[in-house]
Amino acid sequence: MERHQITGHTELIGLLAYPIRHSQSPATHNAAYEKLGVDIVNLAFEVDAPELEDAIKGLRALKLRGANVSMPNKTIVHQYLDEISPAARLCGAVNTIVNKDGYLVGHITDGIGYIQSLKDNDIDPVGKKLTIVGSGGAATAVEIQAALDGVAEMSIFARDDKFKQNALDTVKKINENTNCKATFYPLEDLDKLKEEMHSSYLFTNATGVGMKPLEGITYIPDSSFFRPDLIVTDVVYAPHETAMLKMARHAGCKTMNGQGMMLFQAIAAIELILGKRVDSAYMKEKLG
Ligand code: NAD
Repeated sequence: MERHQITGHTELIGLLAYPIRHSQSPATHNAAYEKLGVDIVNLAFEVDAPELEDAIKGLRALKLRGANVSMPNKTIVHQYLDEISPAARLCGAVNTIVNKDGYLVGHITDGIGYIQSLKDNDIDPVGKKLTIVGSGGAATAVEIQAALDGVAEMSIFARDDKFKQNALDTVKKINENTNCKATFYPLEDLDKLKEEMHSSYLFTNATGVGMKPLEGITYIPDSSFFRPDLIVTDVVYAPHETAMLKMARHAGCKTMNGQGMMLFQAIAAIELILGKRVDSAYMKEKLG
């Protein structure tokens, strides 16, 4: 591995999460800094919730340019920051901290990444209807950003588990804060799911179904739920093609997996912190 030449000028951006050693994120961010020609390194710090307040004080004291934040800190870090973006406030989560001369601003870029990955695939959901399944962190970020960015109508389905209340809260927040009309439906009502999918431009799985340990599984019973002009996307990026995407592709649908979301959320975070946008084609090639 080629090493960045570290000097007295080199600056630091940290990823604050626990556990985090397995993360590809520092490699992604360091590849982007190299391409941008900036003298910055990105390192992962094992920071768990009890240490987070001290870590943020340290970030201020050490004048880090910013930080990336992952679980378990995404939903609690806002209390230590000076300002929160509208999307981060509505999501109740922050994955990017920008240090503006000691004034810390929190953003969430997961939803931005998803919307940019749509655009990258010539998919434009503005003014259209989205049916989406999911009530966890990824789903909330996508739902809030889609509503803020101009999706006209959203049908949100979720199963009856510990996340369900999130989906109900998200529907309320979207209806109170954006021009999008959102409605909640239980995922158990498959007839309704089919009906909503049939009247949608775009369908998205924003749950972990399709990824290990649920790899090979989908809650879509059969291909009659798809029609060829429905665009079908998944936030899952491993495997590259989930069982649901495979079924949709066989039904003639245009499909997109979660790899673009992952890439573009990183690009958006780098742009927020550094004010520079790295070339997505280069990053795609670099990350395989
Ligand atoms: P989470 O734990 O916050 O939420 C899990 C969600 O999955 C909930 O909505 C839950 O109801 C749903 N779920 C779980 N088992 C289910 C089942 N059997 N049937 C129906 N719904 C079920 O997780 P998360 O952080 O929101 O992550 C969800 C998925 O999104 C993961 O696969 C993750 O890898 C992916 N993700 C992708 C990106 C990206 O950049 N592409 C970013 C974040 C998360």
